[in-house]
Amino acid sequence: MRSHLLNGLTAEHYRRSVTEGVERVAAKLAATERPFTGVAVDELSPRVDAIDLDRPLGDTAAVLDELEDVYLRDAVYFHHPRYLAHLNCPVVIPAVLGEAVLSAVNSSLDTWDQSAGGTLIERKLIDWTTARIGLGPAADGVFTSGGSQSNLQALLLAREEAKSDDLGKLRIFASEVGHFSVQKSAKLLGLGPDAVVTVPVDRDKRMQTLALAHELERCRAEGLVPMAVVATAGTTDFGSIDPLPEIAELCDRHGAWMHVDAAYGCGLLASRKYRHRIDGIERADSVTVDYHKSFFQPVSSSALLVRDAATLRHATYHAEYLNPRRAVRERIPNQVDKSLQTTRRFDALKLWLTLRVMGADGIGELFDEVCDLAVQGWHLLAADPRYDVVVEPSLSTLVFRYIPAAVTDPAEIDRANLHARKALFASGDAVVAGTKVGGRHYLKFTLLNPETTPSDIAAVLDLIAGHAEQYLGESLDRAS
Ligand SMILES: *Cc1c(COP(=O)(O)O)cnc(C)c1O
Repeated sequence: MRSHLLNGLTAEHYRRSVTEGVERVAAKLAATERPFTGVAVDELSPRVDAIDLDRPLGDTAAVLDELEDVYLRDAVYFHHPRYLAHLNCPVVIPAVLGEAVLSAVNSSLDTWDQSAGGTLIERKLIDWTTARIGLGPAADGVFTSGGSQSNLQALLLAREEAKSDDLGKLRIFASEVGHFSVQKSAKLLGLGPDAVVTVPVDRDKRMQTLALAHELERCRAEGLVPMAVVATAGTTDFGSIDPLPEIAELCDRHGAWMHVDAAYGCGLLASRKYRHRIDGIERADSVTVDYHKSFFQPVSSSALLVRDAATLRHATYHAEYLNPRRAVRERIPNQVDKSLQTTRRFDALKLWLTLRVMGADGIGELFDEVCDLAVQGWHLLAADPRYDVVVEPSLSTLVFRYIPAAVTDPAEIDRANLHARKALFASGDAVVAGTKVGGRHYLKFTLLNPETTPSDIAAVLDLIAGHAEQYLGESLDRAS
């Protein structure tokens, strides 16, 4: 069994084993014609159930064959140009190389004595990101597992900075289309059930700053504490960007922590063309970025950045065995002092290799391409009488709804759209997402693949219309 331990003696076994796996995946990627096979849960689960984990196969090739059957064949492939659903990007090759290196070396970024250079690489990428944001000389941050964790940590810092001994009085303001991790975080942080005040959005799904001003004043008048405003730079549903400069003004005036959730919009930090769309982000106290959304990085790769490094102390605890106080005096850089996690992956390496191979402009250009594609898609939808489209894109999201001329019952139109999404998924021809707007069911494209073309979009719109028409036809038959 020792032959399976990765070390100097098994280096050749490692090379062969990993190469075999890489070759399978490469062949798979070259051959996938659709983003999904359309497999149903009931079809796949017996195959997984049938495997006896207490009877290993021993042989790598046999295990990879089995993996083909339970996973690779039916996985949802984000690299396919007709995967248009959620905020998942195709990944860039230097980052995948980074993934292979970081798991083989297996550094843990909690302490210097478990990572050495890894710590310095992570710190340099944090500095690079804070400089791109413009957070100033005292800025700092840390890599996290994802935007949800970044938002949680940001709100932890904001809670501590609010210095209130009555958690029930703390209020967080976020738009009605802000991310649900804000609500989850409030709960985890022990705030009351009314802690998150949702602020209405305008036609373009951006936070209404007049309404925010009103809510902040009301908060004060009621003797409550405005702990934080979460501005979203790229909402999950619409890609809309809240008016950051106006929100920064209001945060200043009311002494509220300004957190910018740029989990999605962070790709603009690398864009020369559209960077201005997130102007005002430099005024934040903290920022969430998900490199695994708009920097084309594999899951996970995310960070929390803060204007004032000192605020990260709210996540610091010293353990004698790991990061004793004396390490701080000895200037040993232990990243665990800044993190909610202890053992932590060296995810930063993926971004490092990406920047060293492609450069930031390379990433920014890919993101620009999908933003431009969204505009083309918007024109297609706006000109298509079969569809109603909401919100001109600020990033790369399109939200729309199939609206047949002959049907007036909105509930029936809802059902047709829901059916179309499901039928499309079951066909595997394309994958799209859905959401609700004004209580009605809509469909959603999140465009993150520069390989997707306007004709892919047009083709998928035809497929959706086909499924919806078929549903409505059958529903007429049922009624008569
Ligand atoms: C995706 C997303 C998150 C959560 O990020 P995860 O990496 O999925 O945890 C938070 N905020 C916004 C706006 C998002 O789009």
